[in-house]
Amino acid sequence: LADQARAAAHRPAATRDGIRIEVAANAGDAGDAVEAAAVGADGVGLLRTEFAFLDRDGAPSEDEQAAIYGAAAAALDGRPLVIRTLDAGADKPLPYLGMPPEQNPFLGVRGVRLGLARPQLLATQLRAIVRTAAEHENVKVMFPMIATIDELRSGRRMLDEACAAVGEPLRDGFEVGIMVEVPAAALTAVQLAHEVDFFSLGTNDLTQYVLAAERGNAALARLADGLHPAVLRLVHEVCSAARAHGRWVGVCGELGADPAAIPLLVGLGVRELSVAAPAVPAVKAAVRALDADEAETLAHAALAAESADAVRALVVSDDGPAG
Ligand code: PEP
Ligand code: MG
Repeated sequence: LADQARAAAHRPAATRDGIRIEVAANAGDAGDAVEAAAVGADGVGLLRTEFAFLDRDGAPSEDEQAAIYGAAAAALDGRPLVIRTLDAGADKPLPYLGMPPEQNPFLGVRGVRLGLARPQLLATQLRAIVRTAAEHENVKVMFPMIATIDELRSGRRMLDEACAAVGEPLRDGFEVGIMVEVPAAALTAVQLAHEVDFFSLGTNDLTQYVLAAERGNAALARLADGLHPAVLRLVHEVCSAARAHGRWVGVCGELGADPAAIPLLVGLGVRELSVAAPAVPAVKAAVRALDADEAETLAHAALAAESADAVRALVVSDDGPAG
């Protein structure tokens, strides 16, 4: 039976009515990409590149980064690898940058803001990514903490500059995406959809910003609930905008592995769930148990619910008493 479960985890997952959901893993380094492949993940939906920048005296060189990204891409053997550009700042400070202290680091110079404030840092990383993408067709890139279309355009411009510097154009079909973690990005997804290939919902940060409840604050853990209808409405907004433009939407925050959230996310139109590697088999099993049409009905009911608890109750009652 254990063998059967393991084999099932290595097969693609689809709902009962045949909607394919990619179940990928989150990774912090190339070793995690090896683990992702070993547990049957369909790819890596989030490579948190900042881990290569932490706990050192300076940023890794272009060559060091290209080696890490190349090893991660190779470990996945053709399965997609979404490389997120540096998401430092806030809870992941880089002391060697000498950035001025901030009173509210979660509202400060973090994510893409840091890369744009320190363009050498991001430019070096983008050159490493371009080099990796030239060798591995499975690579995609995404920018974290996008709040405005100007940030997206600046990031894309720097990506073009990196291509020119490396002397490698991006191949046709190379995908550039953004994380949706800031409510402003979710609410302007219609405009952003013109200029991105995909959206990945960072529900950890999105929830913290929607409910104004810091993600690591234990006293606010109940409030920072990704099943709150306000969060789900933003997921809906992004999925609707993406659908109208033929873009795809993933979730790479922890909500994607929550059994109560999976039917809602799939029902709203999410087609990729990137989760912690050990959760991949269970998430695939949860996808296979779903009917996407029923999930859509349930998700629309959840949008009208009054609270996260009410959403959870809806999901449980939909599962039936034996559920
Ligand atoms: C998120 O915010 O949901 C996310 C996946 O990014 P991180 O957890 O790295 O901030
Ligand atoms: Mg985040």
